[in-house]
Amino acid sequence: MSERTYDRIYIGGEWVRPHSGRSISSIDPSTEEVWAEVAEADERDVDLAAAAARSAMQGPWSSRVTPAQRGELLYRLAGLLRRDAARIAELESRDNGKPLRDTLGEMQRAAEWLTFFAGAADKIGGEQIPFRPNALAYTRREPVGVVGAILPWNSPMLLYSWKLGPALAAGNAVVLKPAEQTPVSAMELARLIAEARFPAGVVNVVPGYGQTAGAALAAHPGVNKISFTGSHATARKIMQSASVNLKRLTFECGGKSPHIIFADADVERALVVATQSAFRSTGQSCSLGSRLFVQKPLYSEFLDRIAARARRIRVGMPLDKSTQIGPQTSAEQLAKTQSYIATGKQQGAQLITGGGRPQGFDRGYFIEPTVFAGVENRSRLAQEEIFGPVLAVIPFDSEEEAIALANDVEYGLVAGLWTADVSRAHRMAAALQSGLVTVNTFRTTHPMLPYGGYKLSGVGRESGMEAIHHYTEVKTVVVDFDPAPPADPFAD
Ligand code: ADP
Repeated sequence: MSERTYDRIYIGGEWVRPHSGRSISSIDPSTEEVWAEVAEADERDVDLAAAAARSAMQGPWSSRVTPAQRGELLYRLAGLLRRDAARIAELESRDNGKPLRDTLGEMQRAAEWLTFFAGAADKIGGEQIPFRPNALAYTRREPVGVVGAILPWNSPMLLYSWKLGPALAAGNAVVLKPAEQTPVSAMELARLIAEARFPAGVVNVVPGYGQTAGAALAAHPGVNKISFTGSHATARKIMQSASVNLKRLTFECGGKSPHIIFADADVERALVVATQSAFRSTGQSCSLGSRLFVQKPLYSEFLDRIAARARRIRVGMPLDKSTQIGPQTSAEQLAKTQSYIATGKQQGAQLITGGGRPQGFDRGYFIEPTVFAGVENRSRLAQEEIFGPVLAVIPFDSEEEAIALANDVEYGLVAGLWTADVSRAHRMAAALQSGLVTVNTFRTTHPMLPYGGYKLSGVGRESGMEAIHHYTEVKTVVVDFDPAPPADPFAD
């Protein structure tokens, strides 16, 4: 018997039974046991959810609810999430294995994102374009329509807020599909949406599998946009299905982010940030600083010290308050991480620390923080996203070499560098092919800062007012009031 059951899904403001009559069995990754059953939505439910979202778009949500009222609803949702943060954080930790301290932080951050977009809702406007004296031209920013949000399992609630915030602020309706590995917090979110009294159909939550519910959403002719976070392999499939009606797309697809430490860096600060950027969330973050480039005079010292720090990280049970990182979220992810560790060894990289199951755990998808040195930048260990706590450390000589190595990868989400040289910082910021470059810090995400990827890391941007652009269509309106007769090319 599982501990929790959610036997309904949330469509059109109602809790309905899914057509399949089945449920998703969600596994607690720290025990490998099923701990929750969540009703499984399939294509038919997605169809209903898309229809419910469409009727919300044709009803008062578009014609009566003011931008300020949309903001008010988002504020209310943020408040409810803050109220229930501790309870939902615990459920999230059970579902995806992150330590409580992380999931609690994510609930707070999700509320911050919703709050930012609540404030943005009544500041979305077009512009007036003075293109001719006897005409008025202006643009309107209209909602795109029905948005399908397809989410991953690494930071569920936080990423829901990244999608819902701008989508709802701009007046869209949403069909949200959580990852099958972590459906629980989405059901809790649906309860809060109901409690906040969003109009029926404005947000629909359909937990289901990627190949069924996800694929149906991506291909649905009644869905105008897909906002997706996940692997680029899945993004490619979604892009193909989405071509049916030229859906608008926002993709965030992970990375293999270079973190570059110059010899003139503030080493103590860089060490703290590099360690946490490589291993936090058990490596299950798209913005991990997983390729660490260290300038040669500093290389050996930095390598020794980061390895020592990695050894000290407390791996433990998610609900234990002293735990710093938990297990990987799924057996598949653990197997993937282990296979990269094996590949690293085969390809001649030097294993400095970690690589195995931490002592004292005979169950659960646990893995030690792992550091490889002398990694070849073209090797799989340095090129492919592992999504585990595996750091590749690579030496370099010059600024030019650092840029060449950092950019020699198919991804481009985040890049970071540490230097005391201001000119170098700006040169590097311009040269690095990445949606976010951070100097003397790493991977700063904030509701105000646009975030997204170059190359295989994604399409479009999330967060900031920039995100609003990706949830609106621009309509240009021209009103002519010229008293003179129009030019007539057919006059004689
Ligand atoms: P992972 O492989 O790490 O689980 P995915 O990119 O496959 O990451 O999953 C991210 C999200 O995409 C999940 O919600 C998943 O259900 C969904 N998904 C997977 N395959 C498809 C697909 N073919 N079409 C639409 N969504 C999908």
